[in-house]
Amino acid sequence: MTDLLVATNNPGKIGEFRRLLAHLPARVIGPVDIGLVLEVPEPHFTYAENATDKARAFCAASGLLTVADDSGIEVAALDNGPGVRSARYGGAEGGAAYVLSQLPAGADRSAQMVCWLAVAVPPASEPRVALFSGTVAGRVASEPRGTGGFGYDPIFEMPDGRTTAELDEADKDRVSHRGRAVQAASPFLLRMLTG
Ligand code: IMP
Repeated sequence: MTDLLVATNNPGKIGEFRRLLAHLPARVIGPVDIGLVLEVPEPHFTYAENATDKARAFCAASGLLTVADDSGIEVAALDNGPGVRSARYGGAEGGAAYVLSQLPAGADRSAQMVCWLAVAVPPASEPRVALFSGTVAGRVASEPRGTGGFGYDPIFEMPDGRTTAELDEADKDRVSHRGRAVQAASPFLLRMLTG
């Protein structure tokens, strides 16, 4: 079976990708499975460019069909930030708690989670990249709730009132930004794996 490399060192993301890509005729692996240690900077102002850099670098290093994502939360009252800077928002102790601390009473808590996927296709010497995206709309909860997921999940509330950390894995996969981006990318991935 062909290997499909997920270009992330985030264990939460690898777990999600393994589930989301399970329907494909591929063995879904992470960098750790092939002893690949690679940190790719995310210097750009767009998710698409950051995801492209990651996918290209991991494909070039491994020679494998590679999927990378860049994602973030965009909050209306924070001028649609932190967005592409979500991983670094508020420093080492930042993230969900910092977003909550930045929202005064009465703030517009509308938010969306955004995911861009870059698929890099070998040859390693000159990978080609295709891009796909997914979003999910919701709001920032008044306090963290739920034990599932990772990152901003405990504070990202769906229209039904549950945070994405309160959804079971299958439900999060169906509605999440990453789930939707993978749905969009699936026909292309299938073609690359079987064509
Ligand atoms: P990056 O895509 O690795 O740059 O991550 C962006 C930031 O968004 C990190 O703080 C992640 O923890 C967070 N994040 C990415 N995807 C999700 C998700 O599915 N749920 C909650 N937080 C997420």
